[in-house]
Amino acid sequence: MATIFSRIIAGEIPSYRVAENEKFYAFLDINPLAKGHTLVVPKQEVDYLYDLDDDTLKEMIVFAKSIATKIKSFSGCKRVATVVLGLEVPHAHIHLIPMNSEKDVDFSREKLSLTPEEFSEIATALQK
Ligand code: 5GP
Repeated sequence: MATIFSRIIAGEIPSYRVAENEKFYAFLDINPLAKGHTLVVPKQEVDYLYDLDDDTLKEMIVFAKSIATKIKSFSGCKRVATVVLGLEVPHAHIHLIPMNSEKDVDFSREKLSLTPEEFSEIATALQK
């Protein structure tokens, strides 16, 4: 069965798309730790990030870098944390999270509750 992220990539499940190319898809995390929290996923359905072949892994980091640059400008944060963790979805993904302190990347914290309009505004800003 396709993962939830493959279904998002296929457009079967809606998402707030930030960027896309032939190999990768980036969209806003629906339970964000901060405004701009983005997930970067390979279109190839691979569970574990380090099972990607070397070239794809390199390309994915470069793709993530271009989005991280936009997130940093958008949020004015000190850095964009690049986090790989979790077992929730069996489809490799990188979290890009605006951060000003290490506490901003504590996944046990309560997540933001954003309106559809807020999600759309953020996605539109990051698409530019
Ligand atoms: P992890 O496996 O990294 O612990 O968690 C997966 C991440 O994907 C979580 O931060 C969760 O909020 C996000 N997520 C799970 N399902 C969906 C979804 O349907 N849409 C979006 N945009 N994000 C999701």
